[in-house]
Amino acid sequence: MFYGLVLLLIAQSIIFLKHKKDIQKINIQKASEKFIERDNYFKSYIEDVKLKLFTIQNSAIFQEHIHDKTGKLFLLDITNTAKNIMQLRYIDANGMEKIRVQRDTYGSKPYLIKDDQLQNKKNRYYFQEIMKLKEGQFWYSKLDLNMEHGKIELPRKPVLRVGTPLFHNGKKVGILIVNIFMKKILNDIVNTPLFDIYLIDKDGYILTDPHKKSCWNRYLGTSQSINECFDQNTKDIVSKSELKGENFYSKKIFLNNGEDIRMVLQLKDEYIEDAIEEEFYKLLFIMLVVILISFPFSYFVSIRPSRLKDKVDTEIKEKTKELQEINENLEKKIKERTKEQDILLSLFDLSDAVLFKWNNDENWTVNSVSKSVESLLEYTPQEFINGKIVYAHCIHHDDLQLVMDEVTQAINEKKYFFKHEPYRVITKSNKVKWILDNTVIVRDENDNITNLVGYLTDITALKTNELKLKNLSITDQLTKIHNRMYIDEMLQNQYYRFHRNQEISSIILLDIDFFKSINDKYGHLIGDMVLVEFATLLKSSIRKGDTVGRWGGEEFLIILPHANLQQALKFAQKIRKTIENNIFTTIKHITASFGVATFEKGMSIENLIDTADKALYLSKENGRNKVTTIQEVKDSGLDDDYK
Ligand code: GH3
Ligand code: MG
Ligand code: MG
Repeated sequence: MFYGLVLLLIAQSIIFLKHKKDIQKINIQKASEKFIERDNYFKSYIEDVKLKLFTIQNSAIFQEHIHDKTGKLFLLDITNTAKNIMQLRYIDANGMEKIRVQRDTYGSKPYLIKDDQLQNKKNRYYFQEIMKLKEGQFWYSKLDLNMEHGKIELPRKPVLRVGTPLFHNGKKVGILIVNIFMKKILNDIVNTPLFDIYLIDKDGYILTDPHKKSCWNRYLGTSQSINECFDQNTKDIVSKSELKGENFYSKKIFLNNGEDIRMVLQLKDEYIEDAIEEEFYKLLFIMLVVILISFPFSYFVSIRPSRLKDKVDTEIKEKTKELQEINENLEKKIKERTKEQDILLSLFDLSDAVLFKWNNDENWTVNSVSKSVESLLEYTPQEFINGKIVYAHCIHHDDLQLVMDEVTQAINEKKYFFKHEPYRVITKSNKVKWILDNTVIVRDENDNITNLVGYLTDITALKTNELKLKNLSITDQLTKIHNRMYIDEMLQNQYYRFHRNQEISSIILLDIDFFKSINDKYGHLIGDMVLVEFATLLKSSIRKGDTVGRWGGEEFLIILPHANLQQALKFAQKIRKTIENNIFTTIKHITASFGVATFEKGMSIENLIDTADKALYLSKENGRNKVTTIQEVKDSGLDDDYK
């Protein structure tokens, strides 16, 4: 940072020095502009007076009243309109002052000088000079101090005389001459914040200077000339009409009065100092700003990293400590976990549920199994782990394929977890048990199956109850044969089989004849007994695969799958005879009437029942103990079963 500051300092110094030169250069340029402005100002100050002279010269009133009071008042009025006129005179061709308007100080009230105080100016150089001029020409005096009675008037009054010859009807009748107060214009001209302005005559004498030290020295006997102010350049200033120095600018002003007055604009030392000082402060300010900026910057660049390092070190220490703590906690947790696992395993040991881990091989050899397996399958875990028994052999033969299919499907479907349909297992002592098996498929990082983990629950009791309930729901409680609900379900199956697979099937609807009279004669309980006996007889009469159920009251329905109408009629006859020939307890003989129907194309279950019912009605109508169908019977030869 130190080197940076030194470099900055050097750079600033170079900029500073270069800038100093630039300031001078720019300001000399400004000086020439200032000159034009001041020269014009000077000019307009004089021109204004010339304009007045011109006005007088061409005034008919003045021409006419040149010798009387009006002419005098006219000049007084003119003087009144120009504050810078000190004297305005009309001097006749003989050099005699005819009219003289006087003003004592710049801007004060002018007045007329009495005639007896007017003087003859015939021998004055200005009179002689002006009288030589042609009409419309002007004469300028040197810029000097006003004289009164041959002495420099005090306080000093710088003055410039401007005159012109006066013509009347083409004849020169005298001159008009004006003394101009120059103090104000000279003060105005030299007054500038940037430059010291000097007016210098052709000999290098200072006519006016801003410090008012050397003004008019030529008249006061002091010998100070421009040499003392402008060193070696003086010669050039007075010899050249325009000159640009290092810190000044000079040029001849417009006034052509033989003095060759030059205006010298010298760049003020204090201005340069001020400008430089200003520049210096500006640069100092920039430097301060740079330092102010560079300090925090270097803080970031140099100090901050070390702080950062400290911070990082502490953070690392803290993090290491944190990590150690985490590690310790983890170890503690793992220990607790192991404990938890032991507890979990012992939980399985105590529970009925079994945790199995099988290998994904053909017969599912067992990798590990909870102790609870003993109460489920009666094998010890050891027997499984030693390979004495494999899990596949524990599954009921009828269910094995289904269980295996479910596993294959779950694997194909990329499942990680699935639930088997309840299946049966066979225990060591050949007992059948129902189990619920939730299996997790364990895969390695390459997605290869390594193990199957099964969570097995014994649901034998549930399943038995379920079957019992199911049985109950489909059994007629009086006769113990299937109830109408079950028959309905079976009819539904037959309906689908016929319409989807064209599997024929027929039904027999039968109704005990005159049952009401049995009830009436023997009582309701006997009636019930007859119903039970009747149902048992029916159940023993049907083939395997046929279904019989109580349709309602003393009506029964038999479903004959694969039987056509003819076969069904035959079978109905067979049962009719069986009933007719059976001897029932108490009542001895009863008969039943039969209606037979078969599924035909487009027939609904309701249509089928209705068809059978109509046939049954006809059997009753035709004297009972009859078998009737209302469908067309097609002879297709008889099955042995139905003979
Ligand atoms: P049909 O020859 O015209 O069939 O005469 P039926 O008397 O058998 O017919 P009906 O329909 O007139 O009477 C049926 C009787 O069966 C009436 C009813 O009390 C009796 N019944 C229905 N269900 C039971 C039952 O569960 N137990 C007993 N004991 N009787 C029943
Ligand atoms: Mg009936
Ligand atoms: Mg009946």
